[in-house]
Amino acid sequence: MIYLDYAATSPIRKEVLKAMEPYFSKYFGNPSSLYSFGIKAKSAVENSREKIAKVLHAHPSEIIFTAGGTESVNLAIFGLLKKLQADTKNKLHVITTKIEHHAVLHSVQALEKQGIEATYLSVDQQGFVGIKGLVKAIKPTTVLVSIIWANNEIGTIQPINKIAKELRKINTERQKKKLPQILLHVDACQAGGALDLDVNKLSVDMMSLNGSKIYGPKQIGILYLRRGTKIQPIIYGGGQERDLRSGTENVPAIVGMATALELAQEERLKENARLRGLRNYLIKNLLKIPGSTLNGAGIEKDSEENPIRLPNNVNISIPNVEGEAMVMYLDAQGICISAGSACTSTSADPSHVIAALHKDKDLAYGLRLTLGHDTKKSDLDKVIKLFPKIATELQRVHRMDMTVV
Ligand SMILES: *Cc1c(COP(=O)(O)O)cnc(C)c1O
Repeated sequence: MIYLDYAATSPIRKEVLKAMEPYFSKYFGNPSSLYSFGIKAKSAVENSREKIAKVLHAHPSEIIFTAGGTESVNLAIFGLLKKLQADTKNKLHVITTKIEHHAVLHSVQALEKQGIEATYLSVDQQGFVGIKGLVKAIKPTTVLVSIIWANNEIGTIQPINKIAKELRKINTERQKKKLPQILLHVDACQAGGALDLDVNKLSVDMMSLNGSKIYGPKQIGILYLRRGTKIQPIIYGGGQERDLRSGTENVPAIVGMATALELAQEERLKENARLRGLRNYLIKNLLKIPGSTLNGAGIEKDSEENPIRLPNNVNISIPNVEGEAMVMYLDAQGICISAGSACTSTSADPSHVIAALHKDKDLAYGLRLTLGHDTKKSDLDKVIKLFPKIATELQRVHRMDMTVV
């Protein structure tokens, strides 16, 4: 099998599995218990929190463990808005983008049903959010901006620190006018292995990360919550995670998440360089298919110093080639790719992300190939050989269908 869907999820790496192992049955204690056996579990949780805080240049108290990226995003968005709604009767406004993961998109849509106003920012043809457009969308009632850092479908990386700087300037002015501060939440679930996660350089207030995209376990995530940021919980119970996320801690997954993040960041520069080379090789070869176009940021200007596209992301559209058919034919050859995002690929709906890039309706899906640890050049050579053949065949069938109609 050639697995080219690392943006959907990654396998647990062996070092992570090994670190997790003792906490399933040997040290199974509840971190909240007082006896020393529980304390063993408790210290594993706190060591993991410290490791993650170190990677983020944050304080351990700013790290909240959740059950995955989706939950982190929900906690950030609903947690903040619930708190603000409890404190004020004023109208509230949230800004996000048209290219968010459904975790954010559907959360903001749910807020709208509760009477909160929302703006979905457009992006340019490469998927970049314009800072001017963002500034224009700000209203006196704006309290939150939520932006996907590295896009899960097209790989475009937003200039978060520039956006954050602009928001800081605006917030200083707003303070003088007694307007509410605008907080910045970043969905960083695709960035954990590829980008520098220093929250001070980024200047964000909240950031969501998960284990499943960085060779860690699934259903584990963190929310970075800058000190002083007040939110309400969305899950109530025993008061774990400083009352912000109740429920017995998933100790093995927490240990796994910390180990995965630490390793991903240690290896980041080396692995980015390797993947970037493979990615460019694959893109250049797939773009030889007549009519094919690359979705997302161009690769010419992408570099480690100024990253604008995830080093492992390839996303192309080919006219008259149905995405799902392509996925099925490649699957029959043992190659796993994705059409649209993993969460929607069972439905025939066009991708909302590709649609936001102002392409023809016919091209409103993308074939996504995302590379990872096990990807070798020889795998890509197989893909480069098969892909155009299948695409040409599908185009031929499409033409025949058109003739019959
Ligand atoms: C995967 C992903 C999520 C959801 O994370 P889960 O851990 O699957 O809940 C959210 N945002 C982005 C950008 C993702 O890639």
